[in-house]
Amino acid sequence: MSSENVDVVVVGGGAVGSAAAWQLARRGSQVVLLEQYEAGHTRGASHGASRIFRLSYPDPVHIDLAREARRHWRELEELTGTDLLTITGGVDHGDHPHLRLLADGLAATGVPHHWLTPREAGERWPGIRFDTRALFHPDSGRLHADRSVTALQTAAAKSGALVRHATPVTAIEVLGEDAVLVHTDSGAYRAHRVVAAVNAWASKLVGGLVPLPPLRVTQEQPAHFAARETEDGWPSFGHLFAEGSAAAASFHGGVYGLATPGEGIKVGFHGVGPETDPDHRDFIPEPGQLAALRYKRQAPISCTYTTTPDANFVLDRRGPVVVATGFSGHGFKFVPAIGRVLADLAVDGTRPDRRFAFDR
Ligand SMILES: Cc1cc2nc3c(=O)[nH]c(=O)nc-3n(C[C@H](O)[C@H](O)[C@H](O)COP(=O)(O)OP(=O)(O)OC[C@H]3O[C@@H](n4cnc5c(N)ncnc54)[C@H](O)[C@@H]3O)c2cc1C
Repeated sequence: MSSENVDVVVVGGGAVGSAAAWQLARRGSQVVLLEQYEAGHTRGASHGASRIFRLSYPDPVHIDLAREARRHWRELEELTGTDLLTITGGVDHGDHPHLRLLADGLAATGVPHHWLTPREAGERWPGIRFDTRALFHPDSGRLHADRSVTALQTAAAKSGALVRHATPVTAIEVLGEDAVLVHTDSGAYRAHRVVAAVNAWASKLVGGLVPLPPLRVTQEQPAHFAARETEDGWPSFGHLFAEGSAAAASFHGGVYGLATPGEGIKVGFHGVGPETDPDHRDFIPEPGQLAALRYKRQAPISCTYTTTPDANFVLDRRGPVVVATGFSGHGFKFVPAIGRVLADLAVDGTRPDRRFAFDR
């Protein structure tokens, strides 16, 4: 059984692992990226044509991370000649205290935003019904998920990383503070660091090596609606229902959505899918949620959330093992900045905000 020496092995070729490989390779690290499935697979959390990009968070830590990510997304577009991030504006509405927190977060960090009356918002976006005032943030928009993963891997390879698909990692063996052996069916890699960016598979691959918080893996199923008029001009949106209200009960607390050019308007519930094992998924839509969504056009999307109890990501390191998981259904927008955080953790051990720690 052969073994190769590299500086860093990144396990997981979804959006996060691909971003880590890019950020590490461009710093001169010798990197190999190992993905268990073929390029473009749809068994994880990073596939499809659309993800919301927004700056609307209650706290400066996430807002700064999204701002940093925006810079990297633009740089990646330059580097690869691809369009990834489209600014459409974003709007949050609903009778829920969280909206106040979002507005305060945007105000505290100087992000442009303003309130619209239900009438003003309804005139602007006739496809959405507004019962309450709406918080508009013009710098939000959408990312093209599949193109982004490809662009990250292309940029990583251009910076010297080796990208290997259909190469499942079977085990990670810690040899010491500065050495690890990463086993695959066709040989092993010896490295100073391993970045395990395997999201829903984290408990299986590194659960015995690092103190992970509880991770809940669910099968989520947003769906596309046919737009009455045109998909152009649709914002990315979030609608939260008043806590304890009948609407909150029948619509699982709230919906999110955005336009997916050529596919319609994507609408989904956040983190309410059935628990699942990422290696034994049925990909069968949950009928109750489908009925609630009343989809009209295409088969629903099936995708995994890996949720932590506080919905904060896990971005931390123990010895030579760096871990990224727990993206709780909202990680995509931050991906290239998360890649930078993981490269910092691997190269010089710089830790991000404590809320991302194993034992926060
Ligand atoms: C329906 C849905 C809607 C979403 N909407 C948004 C949104 O609008 N905005 C937003 O910001 N975020 C959104 N997200 C969240 C976002 O998509 C995820 O946070 C992000 O894709 C996570 O990327 P990842 O690389 O960590 O995970 P994944 O894409 O799941 O990647 C993990 C990879 O590891 C590989 N792997 C696992 N085990 C091994 C092994 N042993 N060996 C080799 N490879 C292995 C897997 O095959 C997989 O490719 C949404 C998620 C879903 C499911």
